[in-house]
Amino acid sequence: MRQFLRFKQAHPGCVLLFRIGDFYETFDDDAVTISKALGLTLTRRTEGLPMAGVPHHQIETYLRRLIDQGFRVAVCDQIQEAKDAKGLIERAVTRVLSPGTLVDESLLDERSPGRLAAIACEGLGTQQRIGLAVVEASTGAFAVTEIGPSQLVDELTRRGVTELIHSDQAGGLIGSATGGSSGAGVAAAIASAAGALGLAVTPRPAWHFRSDEACEILLKHFRVGSLAGFGLEGGEPAMLAAGAVLRYLLETQAPMHDLAANGGGATGSCARPLAHLQPPRRDALDDACVLDAVTLRALEIERTLRPVAAGSGLPGKPGQGLGGDGSLLGVFLGTGSSACKTAMGKRLLREWLCRPLREPAAIRARHACVASLVEDRRLADELVAALSEIQDIARIAGRLAIGRATPRDLVALGSSIRAASTLLDTIRGVPALQPIAEALASVLPRLLPIAERIRATCVDAPPPHLREGGLVRDGVDGELDEARRLRLDATGWLSEYQARLIAEHDLPSIKVGYNSVFGYYIELPQAQSRRAPDSFTRKQTLKNAERYITPELKVFEEKVSTAEARSLERERAIFDDLRAKAAETLEAIGQCAASVAELDVLLGFADRALRRGWVKPEIVDEPVLRLVGARHPVLELSLGDRFVPNDVSLGEAEAALALITGPNMAGKSTFIRMAALVVILAQAGSFVPAESATIGVVDRVFTRVGADDALHAGQSTFMVEMTETANILHHATPRSLVILDEIGRGTSTLDGLSLAWAIAEWLAVGARSIADAEPPALGPRTLFATHYHELTRLQELLPGRVQNLHVAVREWPPGDLEAQLVFLHRIERGRADRSYGVHVARLAGVPAAVVARAHEVLGTLSVREHDDPAASSTRNGPIAKATGALPSEPGYRAAAAAPTNGQLGLFTEFIAHPAVSALQELKLDAMTPMQAFDALRALHAMVEAR
Ligand code: ADP
Repeated sequence: MRQFLRFKQAHPGCVLLFRIGDFYETFDDDAVTISKALGLTLTRRTEGLPMAGVPHHQIETYLRRLIDQGFRVAVCDQIQEAKDAKGLIERAVTRVLSPGTLVDESLLDERSPGRLAAIACEGLGTQQRIGLAVVEASTGAFAVTEIGPSQLVDELTRRGVTELIHSDQAGGLIGSATGGSSGAGVAAAIASAAGALGLAVTPRPAWHFRSDEACEILLKHFRVGSLAGFGLEGGEPAMLAAGAVLRYLLETQAPMHDLAANGGGATGSCARPLAHLQPPRRDALDDACVLDAVTLRALEIERTLRPVAAGSGLPGKPGQGLGGDGSLLGVFLGTGSSACKTAMGKRLLREWLCRPLREPAAIRARHACVASLVEDRRLADELVAALSEIQDIARIAGRLAIGRATPRDLVALGSSIRAASTLLDTIRGVPALQPIAEALASVLPRLLPIAERIRATCVDAPPPHLREGGLVRDGVDGELDEARRLRLDATGWLSEYQARLIAEHDLPSIKVGYNSVFGYYIELPQAQSRRAPDSFTRKQTLKNAERYITPELKVFEEKVSTAEARSLERERAIFDDLRAKAAETLEAIGQCAASVAELDVLLGFADRALRRGWVKPEIVDEPVLRLVGARHPVLELSLGDRFVPNDVSLGEAEAALALITGPNMAGKSTFIRMAALVVILAQAGSFVPAESATIGVVDRVFTRVGADDALHAGQSTFMVEMTETANILHHATPRSLVILDEIGRGTSTLDGLSLAWAIAEWLAVGARSIADAEPPALGPRTLFATHYHELTRLQELLPGRVQNLHVAVREWPPGDLEAQLVFLHRIERGRADRSYGVHVARLAGVPAAVVARAHEVLGTLSVREHDDPAASSTRNGPIAKATGALPSEPGYRAAAAAPTNGQLGLFTEFIAHPAVSALQELKLDAMTPMQAFDALRALHAMVEAR
């Protein structure tokens, strides 16, 4: 227990798995924790000491489950053979695992980066700056950046962070500070990020984040005299975060490194700890099209939000894993798709889709690559074949750096490098791919020699570990060959030796044999023992025979008994030597991995383009979005030809804001999401699902679709909606794309409508023009799906700035409550005539009586709304003011001010139709059939006249 407690103390915050014989045991609180987390039986070793364990051969499975639940785990192994131990067996912590620092293949998800982030803060309130450092332990990528508190969740989401560390004093330092209007403070941001993203959050001692300490560890690790070369300044938050993240990594990874270096052969089997860690690279946030966390989730870029019923078109299970079917990533990586051959490509694809480009030239360059791969299918096929041979060398490099590369890793590295060289030969002549060719050409000469050595040295199908040897080919190493031969040829040698002895000494009864207790022997029948030559030393006397040993046989015996150990040792030395050689090329392996990944993603884009008939988008400078025959990339997969393509035209000659009305289920959401996904695909470098596409580069995509409570735990749905909307209104620029779905749903109808109206107006005339009473500027390109038909009047009120679209529906028979609705999913110009909500309710299976009653209630509600003084005051309240305060656009002001029937005319739906009142007043019992018919005719006329 003292030994256990010593390790426990050295690794605070970790669950300690302690190897005892065939089990990894945990004690005390750890035992209680993991018995709950893993559903294990809790036992007691001694009274009052809870204990729970897992069989050693299943450790990887249990580790995976613990890490997935956000635990940090230290694995303590026996580092001494039980038979060699005098007293207590020596043990050591061989691995420290946490969600953000995994490197072992069995524990990693090949598609997700699994990153560790550290944050350090400076300043208060709106002045607050957060330094963010993000490391991918498995590949060594290291990025730093600086953000505001409100961007934290977005950045952590986008970068695929799984574990966050921060100063244990962060709460105290920043607890009272809130980010002003831009959001809550860092403490709150950490809490909300942890909740929303399921991050493991690990507080670390505050001194790790101090300037001197951070600077020192960075300088030491990267062996530089100043951090200026990395673009880091002393004391700035990004530097503090970088130092803290490095210290944490060294702490968790160093035990493995030390053990590998000491226990794994004295030859120094690996480079210095974390040699694969690249110097921190500063990420500028403005070189990418920003997709915030809300957008990434709402547009289902990485994973789907919720389950969708079978047959509705959208496949997918709830919250399906990364790249699962139903997400945009799933279009490339889901079932049935063969895009992206390598794990590195899969991760880069995620990166590209979550962080599309903004620089037109860079986007066009990617399109040119895709085009050349689409045009030359033979080229593409050859590349795919070569890529299929390439393993995850980025992560192999990571394991090399900490001395955990396996024999299979080494052989995979060799064959992958050779396949990369085939790639290079294949793309040499292709103009668009020159940058990739050059990058590969600059690193391969450094890598090919080691690849060649690995091939010459190692067998093609190596064992997963070196315990029983079997990695090195025959004929590579004389000593190893001999050791192996001895093991194999023991019987042959013995019979040869026996024949020699018989001939030499003329003793035909000599037998040479082996006994597990006494070892090798020469046996003579008792009767002949007197004739034994002098070179024979007696070893054992049996009833009828004597057994001897000779110096020659002794040497042979020693050789054989140690042959196994020697061959293993030899293999280990050769393996370590190769690993050390490979570890000298870590940087080159990293660069090679990057080029391979890039090519893989471009091929993935080409594959989709070819298979689904996607086209190359035209990227222009003007803020326009013109799509012809566009399809939703995910839905077209499941619906095929049944998906109805649509056009989008925003900006330039057309109004930049489109209002889309139409019944529920008609396809409004699908339409607006489609537009956003097409833009994201295009700026990520892909072709797009359309007949043609002209896209003015977008600086940010904003979305407000459906309630997304997970990111705002503890807030009401409406609060979430307004928070997200506020963010859009503050930050959208004329270059942005805004996707709004059903704004104003979470509150009363009139509030909702008023807000929706004001928001649409603000976006249509350009945010700043209203606030500053400047001439109307350009608004962001906006697609605004709404069930408030009243909004469609904006088209007349703001000519040239708002266009109405609706989704075509056929009702049959027309005007009948029992009518069947046929959703044509076709977007047409103009406004929808009404909302069909009650039809949809019937379609959804709401009982007929309830549907009929809803019709009745609808009528009375309209009357009430009309009579409600509060409602009328609203009518003349904020909206009238807002419209009155609009800058002078003559048409707009005139139209807005012109009253219709004494009302503003925006709320016709809430005013009882006169026919309804007239109908209510009829005394049917006192009427003759003729009078009744006249009354009916009058009512009809009233309706017609409207
Ligand atoms: P709304 O937002 O108008 O309520 P949705 O966009 O959610 O409607 O669409 C409802 C369903 O209609 C979708 O699940 C999809 O199956 C189908 N759908 C939408 N657009 C199309 C289309 N263009 N072609 C074929 N089916 C579509």
